[in-house]
Amino acid sequence: MADRYVLVVDDQMNNIETLGEVLGDEHDVHFALSAEQALAQIALHIPELILLDIMMPDMDGFQLCEILKAKAETRDIPIIFITSLSTPVEETRGLEAGAVDYIIKPFNASIVRARVHNHLELKRTKDLLRVLSQTDALTGLANRRRLFEHLESVQDKAQRLDQPLSVLLIDVDSFKPYNDLYGHIAGDVCLQRVAGVIQSSLRSVTDMAARYGGEEFCCVLENADQELALQIAERIRASLEALQIPHLHSMVVPYVTVSIGVATSSPDHRSAQMNLLIAADKALYLAKDQGRNRVVC
Ligand code: GH3
Ligand code: MG
Ligand code: MG
Repeated sequence: MADRYVLVVDDQMNNIETLGEVLGDEHDVHFALSAEQALAQIALHIPELILLDIMMPDMDGFQLCEILKAKAETRDIPIIFITSLSTPVEETRGLEAGAVDYIIKPFNASIVRARVHNHLELKRTKDLLRVLSQTDALTGLANRRRLFEHLESVQDKAQRLDQPLSVLLIDVDSFKPYNDLYGHIAGDVCLQRVAGVIQSSLRSVTDMAARYGGEEFCCVLENADQELALQIAERIRASLEALQIPHLHSMVVPYVTVSIGVATSSPDHRSAQMNLLIAADKALYLAKDQGRNRVVC
């Protein structure tokens, strides 16, 4: 139901029935008879779009809109007011409150259907663009932009919850010679395989992997102390080595390997949090210096 769920909020049962008939063919239409009921339903399941009446007892449509726009989880739900309040002042207020559209009752069924359709198309395009703007095209991992956004939010969270936070910087060893020997296309495929190994070595909910630069990757490990971070890094290093992707010009072993720098900020060393990436980068440099295909923290 996720991508066809439209919520109609109206205190009049006959309006709800009419809108159900108008939209029911194309959408999975659910109803709420009050703003409070709507909030309870939205908390369970985020709709793709909301059709919202304004005049309702207790909380009105403007207030509900305000609440939804103030919360990150519900901010992006397109809201269309559908109301008998028809003055320009009221319509302006609705649009300024963040609604994408304003339909005045009595409404025309085919116009409502067309507007809902158009706003859903726009929303889907917007969602797709957001995902694309945060994804690395070659590996499908998060890109650098997404990484920095994520780092910022998990650093706040780690501080709030008093948890350790770890970062891994992973660099493919002797990758220039790999490209020179096997070609750039093979180099790209190799990076995809490295990305796959990294992704499958992480914990599913608390860890995120990103492509940091050309042949460098970064993992952010929430609630991971140094011991756990080292364990995960070692799992990545060993799993890649075990794949034995041939690399005859590697300066380490005849397979593709990575070096990994690990940095951890513990709750009792707050100031280090800002410099996690710098610390991981220093550790990575040491890993290279000490002979590559290793983990250093
Ligand atoms: P080290 O062991 O010290 O890490 O040596 P290295 O050769 O891996 O280091 P260097 O940074 O000199 O080389 C990185 C190479 O990665 C150079 C560049 O051509 C290649 N590279 C970067 N991005 C891509 C990419 O998207 N695809 C391919 N095929 N190669 C890339
Ligand atoms: Mg590099
Ligand atoms: Mg390298």
